[in-house]
Amino acid sequence: MTENGVKTEEQGHIEAAQPKRIKKKRGDFRFGPTLGEGSYSTVILAREIESGREYAMKVLEKRHIMREKKVPQVEREKQVLSRLDHPFFVRLYFTFQDTERLYFGLSVARKGELLSKIKQLGKFDLECSRFYTAQIVSALQHLHSLNIIHRDLKPENILFNDKMQIQITDFGTAKELKDSGDEPRSSSFVGTAQYVSPELLKDKKACKSSDLWALGCIVYQMLTGQFPFKAPNEYLIFQQIVNCKYEFPEDFDPNARDLISSLLQLDPMMRLGSSSCGGYEKLMEHPFFTGIDWENLANQAAPKTMLALAGDSSDEDTTVEDLADGFDQAFINDFKAQVIEESKQKGDSTQLVICDPTDNSGLGLPAVLPKEERERWMKKQHSSDWDYFAKGNLILKQGQLEKKRGFSVKLREFLLTEGPKLIYIDPNSKEVKGEIPWSSELRTEPKSFRIFFVHTPNRTYHLIDKSNNALIWCKKIEEIKKHYYT
Ligand code: ATP
Repeated sequence: MTENGVKTEEQGHIEAAQPKRIKKKRGDFRFGPTLGEGSYSTVILAREIESGREYAMKVLEKRHIMREKKVPQVEREKQVLSRLDHPFFVRLYFTFQDTERLYFGLSVARKGELLSKIKQLGKFDLECSRFYTAQIVSALQHLHSLNIIHRDLKPENILFNDKMQIQITDFGTAKELKDSGDEPRSSSFVGTAQYVSPELLKDKKACKSSDLWALGCIVYQMLTGQFPFKAPNEYLIFQQIVNCKYEFPEDFDPNARDLISSLLQLDPMMRLGSSSCGGYEKLMEHPFFTGIDWENLANQAAPKTMLALAGDSSDEDTTVEDLADGFDQAFINDFKAQVIEESKQKGDSTQLVICDPTDNSGLGLPAVLPKEERERWMKKQHSSDWDYFAKGNLILKQGQLEKKRGFSVKLREFLLTEGPKLIYIDPNSKEVKGEIPWSSELRTEPKSFRIFFVHTPNRTYHLIDKSNNALIWCKKIEEIKKHYYT
């Protein structure tokens, strides 16, 4: 029972196994805050009214799934999750649907992702790394015993429940094998650059051992805070992977070093944990795991450092402030008039004040710059993390905005570049998440100092600038539009 008397789904299910299975429906639940947003779903905390049990309700829009041709992935995820019965995986309790959406009732893992914990701490100490590596190994042993490969194991897909035990999720790219799956076999490209195995890159093949490669990368990342294979772009990362080129920091724990080296073997059959290398028994005997009680892992208390982090609510801070602080129409009309007036006065846009595009309080760079000035900024940009995404274009304005869609809010780095292009990137994984399509019909609408809309013919983007510079963004976008489309 939680402090407020709410039963967690585990408690509820232990107390009362339901005698008959009545299909649940949306009206049986009260929906609370958003727990997370994926490319194809929004995960919302939901409480079943009758039982008081809490679930992480994964809600998928049917239209979106069909449009993006993701039906097989959704079916696969449901199929795989329904086969898993292990404490270190997210559990699927039920599914139901209405005309527009699919609902997956999952166990709640509200304490965030492994990635955010590594970032919060910089890196894990040996105790935490050992504890969570053991949990991942135990989970993989179960998964592989069912002849399932995850194929996208990474810290973003490893969540934590209230006890700070891992809950592995995201089975949309998992594969169910017809046999033991020890031998690599053809596989389409799935996964994430930093964790992808060399056999997938070289031979387009994957096997159970490919998950062990990802495990090696994760252990390295826990202990160092860094990826083992890092480079400015995916091509160079892949080169490092196929050559197994990575380095250990000085004074690295020798047992951890040996474990990682045994997992990051180019030949999947040579990886510790693979059936040809003694399977999971041999892996669990590795000296890195000395002191681990494998039989009792799920009942052991998490390391104190991690329990302390569980109290930190940064991962749960997902509420959306409403538009109560919004501008009235008179203010918006004034603002529009002001933008028109300013652009008339400036005439030649090179007269604009030039600001650092990353300075959120400034307007950024003008759409047209004198050649030398443009070169100077371009040179400066080359040394930034974001240059790669601009693809040779000058970044005119840049900053973090929250992008709201439905119930969920995602933090994104926005780059407004020559072209014009308006790209948004996940600031953690550095993955391009999308682009707001430009046309002469694109227009901005400030709603408050924090909130603004970008309207395009097919969609309205709801953006939130926590530093209260929504007006600056609107002005900048309108200025670029004027330059390119009039
Ligand atoms: P993608 O394919 O982009 O990873 P998806 O649409 O398959 O996304 P998930 O990755 O399953 O969606 O979930 C999206 C986010 O929701 C996760 O990153 C996580 O933050 C949150 N989430 C997912 N499952 C749970 C859960 N059981 N408990 C709490 N939060 C969850």
